[in-house]
Amino acid sequence: MEILLKDITLLLDPHKGVEPKQVSLVIEDDRIIDISSNANLPSPEFVIEGRALIALPPALNSHTHLPMTLLRGYSDNKVLYEWLADIWAIEGKFDAKWIELGTKLACLEAIKAGTGGAFDFYFQETVIGRVLEQAGLRGWLGAGLLPSAFVDQGGLESQLKDFEQLVLDVESSSLLNAAIAPHSQTTVEEEYLLQSKDLAAKHDIPISIHASETRKEVLDCEEKHGVPPVERLDQIGFFQEGTKEVIAHCAWITQREVEILGKHEAMVAWCPTSAQKLAYGGVTPIPELRKAGATVALGTDGTASNNTLDLFREMREAVNMVSFARWDPAIYPAEEVLEDTHWTFRRYFHPESLIKVGNKADLVVMDFHTPHLQPIHNVVSNLVYAANGSDVHSLIVDGQILMQDRQVLSLDEEKIIDEIEGKIPKLISD
Ligand SMILES: [Zn+2]
Repeated sequence: MEILLKDITLLLDPHKGVEPKQVSLVIEDDRIIDISSNANLPSPEFVIEGRALIALPPALNSHTHLPMTLLRGYSDNKVLYEWLADIWAIEGKFDAKWIELGTKLACLEAIKAGTGGAFDFYFQETVIGRVLEQAGLRGWLGAGLLPSAFVDQGGLESQLKDFEQLVLDVESSSLLNAAIAPHSQTTVEEEYLLQSKDLAAKHDIPISIHASETRKEVLDCEEKHGVPPVERLDQIGFFQEGTKEVIAHCAWITQREVEILGKHEAMVAWCPTSAQKLAYGGVTPIPELRKAGATVALGTDGTASNNTLDLFREMREAVNMVSFARWDPAIYPAEEVLEDTHWTFRRYFHPESLIKVGNKADLVVMDFHTPHLQPIHNVVSNLVYAANGSDVHSLIVDGQILMQDRQVLSLDEEKIIDEIEGKIPKLISD
């Protein structure tokens, strides 16, 4: 595929003080081959042109549950444990065809909001991977381990089998990566937590887990094990040299746990909207984690608790939540949340797709020719505080154009929405 981005504004590392610049950019096959003021192509297949168009690396969602998009708005205004009971009751019906449909809807939504991929955390990730590949999105597929879930569909044994299949399936994919995802230290016994860690080492893949999401989880863990969740994970040897750990939430962690996460250079995938909506009360200590050397990346969580996959909205929630809780509007500035959403995950997992000549071509193009993004005193400010996913003009991943001028090219938008409208009432009523 040959794509020319002509006279656009390119945003390179604004968190390092690099000013946006007007350039043209040429993509051939999956690579960026030129970035300069006179870059050109004689007869490109696609042209994206305009000074009001701002290009940057697409956000990658650090924590989500894509198929749960089927449950957007199904259960709101409940505390985590009541909400989970509602969700798990209906998720028990999710077979491969529901998982596929939910992932299609999620991919469509992600593309329209300019997200270039996700670290997913669910079951039957082989099915999810096939949809992501079709959509053209990058995926880190966290094969969920939860002995109590999907018991009718084979429980843990079938979850481990799915995982082994997943590792084989992604071998030759340029978009997909396998990962293992034990649900949490509360819901998964120590034996399986350690088995997961060994599988991560054996296959050289990342591991993800939920931890310290609520105060109740922390108090229960302290009562049972004498220490809070992240510390317990450290004590049992969950963190290991050479494995990338993605710890979701960390809303209630101590300074000692911040140091543990920093020491292991773990990634903390925090989800501010979900935390606020489920009323966790804890705010992930972002400035401390960044200072300690942990990697901080933004996630949406599933749409059953968010209720969108729009990382532009999420950035605004993130920055305001930290400022508000800490009585300090400068403690987590816009440049840092933009970095944590659009650069950090990619640097940690896939630096070969950062915007650079010779690298894989991943770009999101925003349209600033709209009232709420004018005037442009500060591009970063407008992106973080004023933009929404619906301001995304085009999305390119791995050199493929997935959406141009808001037309999704990799999936059939109408067909997917028709299918959702037609089938979801049956999922609920059956
Ligand atoms: Zn989650």
